Amino acid sequence: MEEISLYRKYRPHNFDNLVGQDHVKITLMNAFKSGHVSHAYLFTGPRGTGKTSTARLLAKALNCTNLKDGFEPCGECELCKEIGEGRLIDLIEIDAASNRGIDEVRDLKEKINFAPTRSKVKVYIIDEVHMMTKEAFNALLKTLEEPPAHAYFILATTEAHKIPETIISRCQRFDFKRITHKALMTRLGYIAQLEGIVAEDQALEAISKYVDGGLRDAIGLLEQLTLDNKLNLERVQGLLGISGLSLLENMYGALMDNKTKEALSIVNELHIQGSDFRQFSHEFIDLLRNKMLEAMNADNRRNVARAIKMIEVFQKAQLRLDSDIPQLALEIAVIELTNNLEEFQTLRVETRVEQKPAEATSEKAPLKAAEKLVERIKEVSTAPIDLTMENILKNWPRVVERIRTPSLRNSLKNGKPVSLDGAELTLQFATNFHKDKVFESAHRIELEGVMEEIFKHGVKAAFLVKAVEMKSVVADEYEPVRERAPDPTPPAEDSSAVDEALEIFGGQVME
Ligand SMILES: [Zn+2]
Repeated sequence: MEEISLYRKYRPHNFDNLVGQDHVKITLMNAFKSGHVSHAYLFTGPRGTGKTSTARLLAKALNCTNLKDGFEPCGECELCKEIGEGRLIDLIEIDAASNRGIDEVRDLKEKINFAPTRSKVKVYIIDEVHMMTKEAFNALLKTLEEPPAHAYFILATTEAHKIPETIISRCQRFDFKRITHKALMTRLGYIAQLEGIVAEDQALEAISKYVDGGLRDAIGLLEQLTLDNKLNLERVQGLLGISGLSLLENMYGALMDNKTKEALSIVNELHIQGSDFRQFSHEFIDLLRNKMLEAMNADNRRNVARAIKMIEVFQKAQLRLDSDIPQLALEIAVIELTNNLEEFQTLRVETRVEQKPAEATSEKAPLKAAEKLVERIKEVSTAPIDLTMENILKNWPRVVERIRTPSLRNSLKNGKPVSLDGAELTLQFATNFHKDKVFESAHRIELEGVMEEIFKHGVKAAFLVKAVEMKSVVADEYEPVRERAPDPTPPAEDSSAVDEALEIFGGQVME
């Protein structure tokens, strides 16, 4: 029996089923009703928010021979079916990030003038369009300037700022929004019901909050965290490394009542449980934000002010979580919030974290000795390390700890380095979900950056992270590895160290 992932199964097959993007939905429906469908669309927004699904839906509506209400594809005609099964040859999907994608864009210019073979119109969906080369953009621009009447384009991207203005101006642009917790929860509840999964509301809520607005990730987690048709909060919290609501609420209560000891014992409990302090801080700030808005609505100014103060202190704590004693930052935050420290003002070391480096070097702050010490400790603890598999394994927990994005850190905890070839590191993951998370370009860049921080200095070689999963790969969700060009760095001071590092990394120094 063929296994279909829940995400693919519940991909919207008509406008009625499109979740969380009402502005896009209404504008598109009206375009169909009035017969003013644009020949070029640009869909931008975070991953997993429905860009590709909407593009396919649009292709269906353009081709359906039996549109309902002037916009809704029937889902039953030959063309609807062929699109649904991904076999209509006049729907051309190009992944601009793959090598083949570049050739396909080149081909596009030559083939575009041929009429569609089977359907009414040809639809080109170009995914990850920001990855196209300058030449490919030029070729595309010529086509977009005078598209044949039978051709439609949908360009999709997570990084709209990388698309040339000339291309953007030829397209009608839709910004896909992160889907709200509530809409995600409703959708997950709906799917769970149809799939016969007994799901606790709190478990669905925890997933909805965790995924940061991406429906694809939310459904992926629903599928992976369900065991024997059951989904409970405890399992979700355990596997995602997120803290229980009660701890968060207890912490809030203790801080509001100025109960230092109680709040410190919560920090201690988190530490004993091996909880992720970064994730806890993230969730706690999220809770404080809700408290702040609630207090604002209730016109309780005192609580608004206290929530703001707590948010500020915990945001500051987040910046200090890199310490070797991870609970220290939260302990300081607790003490700062529950004690009146004003009287110690003159004695207290100024610990405000400066936003701009220029300010940090200004004369006015009378601190410096402590900061200098911290700098010194940082220097010593970040001396270059030879790049060997052994050293990578030894330092892997450090790499993971330094990752700032909670979801990336969590996914890395679900994988492990397995081999090293030159500067190319292969990571293995138990599931596609975690592999894909690490594969996202922003995440890969963050990971590569942290690896570079830990393993060397002054030289920037292209550090490649390759990820594989243990399970088989679902073809259409597989993202190819993209090579990253070395970034320019200032010349290193010690040239012999540079040579040595070059030998290790096989890279080159960029002036
Ligand atoms: Zn149809």
